[in-house]
Amino acid sequence: MKTKLNILGSGTSTGVPMLGCSCEVCTSDNPKNKRFRTSFFLQTKKGKHFLIDTTPDLRSQLLRANIKHIENTIITHDHADHLHGIDDLRPFCFGPPPRSLPVFTHAECAKSMTARFPYIFEKDYFNEKKPILGGGIPKLGLHQLKADGSDEFIDGEKFNFYLLPHGHHKSLGICHENMAIFIDCNSIPGPIIKELKKRRIDLLIIDCVKFGSHKTHLGTQKAFEYIKEIAPTRAGLIHMGHGLDHNKLELLCQEEFKNHKTEVFVTYDTMHLEC
Ligand SMILES: [Zn+2]
Ligand SMILES: [Zn+2]
Repeated sequence: MKTKLNILGSGTSTGVPMLGCSCEVCTSDNPKNKRFRTSFFLQTKKGKHFLIDTTPDLRSQLLRANIKHIENTIITHDHADHLHGIDDLRPFCFGPPPRSLPVFTHAECAKSMTARFPYIFEKDYFNEKKPILGGGIPKLGLHQLKADGSDEFIDGEKFNFYLLPHGHHKSLGICHENMAIFIDCNSIPGPIIKELKKRRIDLLIIDCVKFGSHKTHLGTQKAFEYIKEIAPTRAGLIHMGHGLDHNKLELLCQEEFKNHKTEVFVTYDTMHLEC
C-alpha cells in the first residue's frame, strides 16, 4: 500500500480561468490549464483519509473526484481560497447517525475561523432561546495543532506541521512520511529546509504562483531555488495563476533541472500521485 495524494485543485486564489479574463491561458483548450483552487485528498498507507483545505470549489471538487466520505480535515490557513467552502462539509455530518467531523489547524487560523464562522465554531451561538432552525450547520470540532515541527498524531497518523510565512499570515507546511506539502508561502525558513533535507523527501509539493517572484507566494525563481536546496526525488509545482501555461512551465522545469537529480513537474487538477 502506498500513500496516495489526489490533487483536487492546483490553482491560485482566483482559479483558472479567472472570471472575466480572456488571456491565452484562461481561454486555453488544455484541460491542465483548468484549475480549481488548491486542495488535496490524502490517503495514507493505513487507509486513513485527510482532506486538506476547503476551497470555494469544494463541492465540485468532491463530486468530480467521487469522494463520498471525509474523516479528517486539515486547514492550512484562513485565506478565502483555502477555507470558504467549509460549509460543504455539512452533508458528511448528516449521517445516519449524525456525526461531528474533526478539523485541524494552527492557533492563529483557529481563532480566525471562529470569528469568521461563529455559527459553526462558537459554543453557545445557538442555544435554547435561539435554536437551530432549518437545514442545520456543519458539525465540526476544531482542534489546534502545535505546528512547531514536532510529531503530531491525527487519527493515528504521524504528521509534522510547520508555520510558513505567507504575507501577513502563517500557513501550514505539512509533512507525512517522506511527503511534504508546502502550498502557500513566500519563503521557507532555514531550519525547516534543514528538517526537509534530513527527512530525504520523496515528493515535495511546492507553491509556484507565477514566473519570477511574488510578495506573498513563491514564484518560479524561489520555488526552483528551494527545490535545488531541498533536493527531493520529485517536486510538483502548485497554486498556479493564469500567467502560467501548463506546457510552457513544464518545458521551463525540464530546462532548469536537466542537470539535477530531482524530477520537477507541474501538477494539475485530478492528478494522482503516490509515495
Ligand atoms: Zn492560496
Ligand atoms: Zn493564501
